[in-house]
Amino acid sequence: MLEARVFCSTRKGPHLLLIGGVHGDEPCGTVALTRLADELSRGAVTLKCGRVTLVPMANPQAQAEGKRLVDVNLNRVLHKHENPHHYEHFIANSICDHIEKVDAVLDLHAVTASSPPFTFLDWDTPAGRAWIAALGVPFALTGWDELYPPDSGSSSTSSYAHGLGKTAVALECGQKTDPAAADVAYTMARVSLAHFGLTEAYAHTPQKSQALRMTKVVWKEQAGELLGEFENFSPVKADQPLARLADGTTLTADADGYIIMPKATAVIGEEWYYLAVPFSV
Ligand SMILES: [Zn+2]
Repeated sequence: MLEARVFCSTRKGPHLLLIGGVHGDEPCGTVALTRLADELSRGAVTLKCGRVTLVPMANPQAQAEGKRLVDVNLNRVLHKHENPHHYEHFIANSICDHIEKVDAVLDLHAVTASSPPFTFLDWDTPAGRAWIAALGVPFALTGWDELYPPDSGSSSTSSYAHGLGKTAVALECGQKTDPAAADVAYTMARVSLAHFGLTEAYAHTPQKSQALRMTKVVWKEQAGELLGEFENFSPVKADQPLARLADGTTLTADADGYIIMPKATAVIGEEWYYLAVPFSV
């Protein structure tokens, strides 16, 4: 069962969907959207127009079990499943129903390594850029849709929404175990409501995001270890050793750039880290 809270103004306006907890071990969105739902419910936050649907806990079973996922990664199977056979397939179908009804989608996540907030600049549209500029987090990443092209079968909240012509932003709010990530998630939710005109402005000073292009995803295909205490966006140099595999192979950086979303605890078959280089928008 998936809980959604819908708040409607009596005046027409955009319909925004805010999602938290797609990954069960990333509590920031759940904490932030539960707080926002409470504030909307008791009138501490009011809508000037439009409507907002909040799904604070998008993967309830994974969250109850303290895990990222139950069967499969929900944000790689986020499309309609005619014959759902994994837990996340059923959840994906419900989330797709919500996405189909709204104008814009904000999906709140967190990462394993220590990290500043960042967003994704894929499916680049003027509306998406304007929203990202309003959010004003330190980094904006592009290249996700090239690492996970549609014919790879991978589908996220953002790609599903964009496929329907909607505006969508996925936001990583910081480190998943850092309580400050929930504050970031709350601020981003409030800034988004204000950006679409649903509420009065929310006090926030946006930064100009540094744009990076993701060039590679490295999957953990056998046992091994990362060769450093990498944080998200740690700079790396070309040929710098990044990881060592059990068979003795060393994985290195392709170019001067950054290591993105390093996951020291990745299990075999998971994404281990990504590489990115600066680019100008
Ligand atoms: Zn996530």
